[in-house]
Amino acid sequence: MIDLHTHSYFSDGTLSPSNLVKQAENLSMKAFAITDHDTTDGLDEGLRTAKGKNVIFIPGIELSVTHKPGELHILGLGLKNWEDNPVLKEINKNRKIRNLQIIDLMNKKGLGITYKDLRKQTKGTIGRPHFAAWMVSEGYVKNINEAFTQFLSWGKPFYIPRETISLQTAIEFIHSTGAYAIVAHPLNIPVNFSALLEKLDYWLSIGIDGIEVIHSGTKRNMTKRLLKFAEEKDCIITGGSDFHGKNKPAIKLGKTKNFGPILDRFLPEELIIQNNTPSKNVL
Ligand code: AMP
Ligand code: ZN
Ligand code: FE
Ligand code: FE
Repeated sequence: MIDLHTHSYFSDGTLSPSNLVKQAENLSMKAFAITDHDTTDGLDEGLRTAKGKNVIFIPGIELSVTHKPGELHILGLGLKNWEDNPVLKEINKNRKIRNLQIIDLMNKKGLGITYKDLRKQTKGTIGRPHFAAWMVSEGYVKNINEAFTQFLSWGKPFYIPRETISLQTAIEFIHSTGAYAIVAHPLNIPVNFSALLEKLDYWLSIGIDGIEVIHSGTKRNMTKRLLKFAEEKDCIITGGSDFHGKNKPAIKLGKTKNFGPILDRFLPEELIIQNNTPSKNVL
């Protein structure tokens, strides 16, 4: 079993990086990646905890990039260096501007939210999922999904867009860290399948290295069709659950939508080779 897409409490997951590594080890996973939204802050802890354990730790990240329609997320897998980076600083500056605007909007409607209410939920990136969790905890909505569908999604009262980076910037940033750029959960993009393949084809031509074919949100028949396309393109193929701990309780670590294991064959060879020659020294 492997899992190349997980979130820790450095973004909108609920577990620490150490806890995630321990769970991966308990499940006898061959390899496992932490891919927090727009931050590398959990990677040192993950790498340190995985040292000497029987699981390959793959440092990762998930970036949101400008795209219409829907959201386009790009995974960076196999980061070799993750020192302070201007691209991540810029993303998080824009996030903060947007988050403060949402707080203003909510307070104008009398909700009484503070930045601290959000800050205490995460050690790293703050995003809409934290607003959603706060609305649940205050009893404004029943669950996170309701918070999104009624208030936080595009066109809803508390939706404010944030400035995102371009796909090209994301690819360049990921490559600059020594990682591979992978299109995350492509089937979440709300276009028909043939339009999606055209998009993927184009993205592969401008520097995308691979496609996350296995994902807990993807049905088996669509996974098969996407796998066939990715094999024909001879690109990197990865698999991950998109585990978020208690924030998305229906998703299980290392598991597909039907709770089958994500198989070792979806661990690309490139990432194993790279892992054997880490360039970053961690105590
Ligand atoms: P942000 O990047 O702060 O704008 O927040 C976007 C994140 O919100 C995405 O990465 C998703 O994880 C999450 N999200 C978006 N729509 C929903 C939804 N309907 N239910 C739960 N989470 C969602
Ligand atoms: Zn997330
Ligand atoms: Fe995503
Ligand atoms: Fe994710």
